[in-house]
Amino acid sequence: MNSRVDHLESRVILLAPTPNDGAFTSKLLLDLNVSTTVCTSMREVVDEASRGAAMLVLATEAIESRDLLALGKCLRDQPPWSDLPTLFLLSPSADRLAYARYLGNIPSITYLKRPIEVVALVASVQAGVRDRHRQYALREHLVQQENQSRALIDADRRKDEFLATLAHELRNPLSPLRSGIDILLLEDDGNHDRVAVLQMMDRQLQQMVRLVDDLLDVSRITRDKLIVTNELVEVQAVIKASIETVRQLLKDSHIKLKSVTPCEPVYVHGDFTRLTQVVSNLLNNAVKYSEDNSEVEVVIDANCEQVSISVRDTGIGIPPEMLSKIFEMFTQVDSSLTRSRGGLGIGLTLVRRIVEMHGGTISAESRGVGLGSTFSIKLRRVHVDRNSTLIDDRESQAVSPKRILVVDDTRAARVMLSKLLRKLGHEVVEAENARTALAHLETDPLEMVFSDIGMPEMDGYALAKEIRKSNKTSELVLVALTGYGQDSDKAKALNAGFNFHLVKPVSYAMLQSILKLKPIS
Ligand code: ADP
Repeated sequence: MNSRVDHLESRVILLAPTPNDGAFTSKLLLDLNVSTTVCTSMREVVDEASRGAAMLVLATEAIESRDLLALGKCLRDQPPWSDLPTLFLLSPSADRLAYARYLGNIPSITYLKRPIEVVALVASVQAGVRDRHRQYALREHLVQQENQSRALIDADRRKDEFLATLAHELRNPLSPLRSGIDILLLEDDGNHDRVAVLQMMDRQLQQMVRLVDDLLDVSRITRDKLIVTNELVEVQAVIKASIETVRQLLKDSHIKLKSVTPCEPVYVHGDFTRLTQVVSNLLNNAVKYSEDNSEVEVVIDANCEQVSISVRDTGIGIPPEMLSKIFEMFTQVDSSLTRSRGGLGIGLTLVRRIVEMHGGTISAESRGVGLGSTFSIKLRRVHVDRNSTLIDDRESQAVSPKRILVVDDTRAARVMLSKLLRKLGHEVVEAENARTALAHLETDPLEMVFSDIGMPEMDGYALAKEIRKSNKTSELVLVALTGYGQDSDKAKALNAGFNFHLVKPVSYAMLQSILKLKPIS
């Protein structure tokens, strides 16, 4: 017998026409080791059954027709694993079909017509109780399965949280490194060896930032937390920004990039940064899986309704059986060459998810191993009134020198960002906590604040709220700098009063764009 079945669940509930009948059947079953509870009304039967029972044995003489409704409900409202065996002992005049009509089609109901041989009664009860114990075993199995799947979901959630924390912890040290390399790269002293080393460090850092970002995005995908914004985006601008991200890679491997784009601007609705991430990823792969000195091509093709962006290479190609699989998480073509190029096998999963979130499609083609690959994205085209201005005219604006406050309790991050801002021609004041920052703001006519979020005593959110409260500083441009890049973190920062939310490490290009942009009020 199942260990989790208690005595209530092992008993048979009897509804007998007379107390004597009840006592007789009870004794009979007890001799077979089956305990019973004898009831005198159907209401009692239903109450008892709700506490647990192996079987119901009901004499029709003790049943009134209105009782059958309550019984029918009790039998129909059982959990999925349960099918409580119910035996009707019909009086000679009772019509079995009438009961069946009343109760509907419940397979666990059986009928025996009086006079009943004791052997038949015993056999029916034993069969019912056996069947009930099989149901208990099924229940146990289901409970175990549920526990296992709950444990798996729990482990999965912990893994996602771990990934998010890991990415955040990795981002923090990357931040001062990013600013440091940018500063050194700005100081061109004509020493080629020095510049070459710095460029190498720059590339490695970019690669590291990309991996950390991908890790974070994977954890977002698995938790359905990836969000794309919906702006008007010029596809040519996406291509341009994406090419920028692989420029150095192209140079290092002497790969020629050809881009074929229509003369007039082509637009889609979507998220500029995410679309740039998509095309960068494809370009990055095209370079990664090609021989040095080869050629990669990116083509925008637009008809009235659709825009297609294709990234074509002449590299190692993809075997036909892998073409549909490479978009799955952690899938890599199993070849020594693929392995030697590193990677986590998550880039294309992210690419596909982002494209799908834009209502688009992505496909991969290859004529086979060694014959190159083409990845094509299709998005819905949007037509724009030529007179309307686009938001993204970042490049055309010049940066005027500003008085900026940098607030960060991590010294390395604060000092490096301040240095970089000074190099860009701005005046910078530093504060190691929110209180000092507020004191500076009281006395100094500052225009912009870059603030960390996680700081002891008073965090960045509280600082932003304080700044927005005071008339004197309510117009300041506030930029949140955090290691947390979740969309909820962004929303929290904007709610607290920040104009922009940047995820560390902030690149030189991003810093430049923010300094040029006017906050949307
Ligand atoms: P990663 O490149 O980090 O391994 P991706 O998800 O970007 O992960 O790509 C998955 C796999 O698809 C790669 O490991 C590689 O086997 C294959 N692949 C992707 N792009 C190309 C390409 N342009 N040429 C050949 N194989 C590719």
